[in-house]
Amino acid sequence: MATNTKQLLKSHSLRITPFREQVLQLFIDESAAISSRKIQDELEDADRITIYRTLKSFVDKGLVHEAFDGTDTPKYALCEDHCDEHAHHDQHVHFHCDKCDQTFCVEEVEVPYITTPQGFKVNSTNIVLKGKCESCNSK
Ligand SMILES: [Zn+2]
Ligand SMILES: [Zn+2]
Ligand SMILES: [Zn+2]
Repeated sequence: MATNTKQLLKSHSLRITPFREQVLQLFIDESAAISSRKIQDELEDADRITIYRTLKSFVDKGLVHEAFDGTDTPKYALCEDHCDEHAHHDQHVHFHCDKCDQTFCVEEVEVPYITTPQGFKVNSTNIVLKGKCESCNSK
């Protein structure tokens, strides 16, 4: 079944615009996480502010999440079905490939519960695995 961009935007209470559809399609087509630079390269007539706002609204509405990979460049990936505008539930680890610099969601691996010293409150846990991705590893 092909994923419908209009439907995804609608179900996340996002107004449908051609630009949002184009950006969302990039996320659907790409197995790795995407930086705003990459969106700019792919959609040549896009300016940085529009991309920034689009990504922010996608994150706010639970459509994409930041795929934290420990690099200076924030990258984003599509959320699983159960995220919405109220909360993200992306409790999986991310994998950063040192060779091709791509970042992947590893949804099979959940972030473990980590206990902290008394008085510390955890809001989010980011776990990054580093190494070679499948395609780099098979070269
Ligand atoms: Zn999410
Ligand atoms: Zn790689
Ligand atoms: Zn992820």
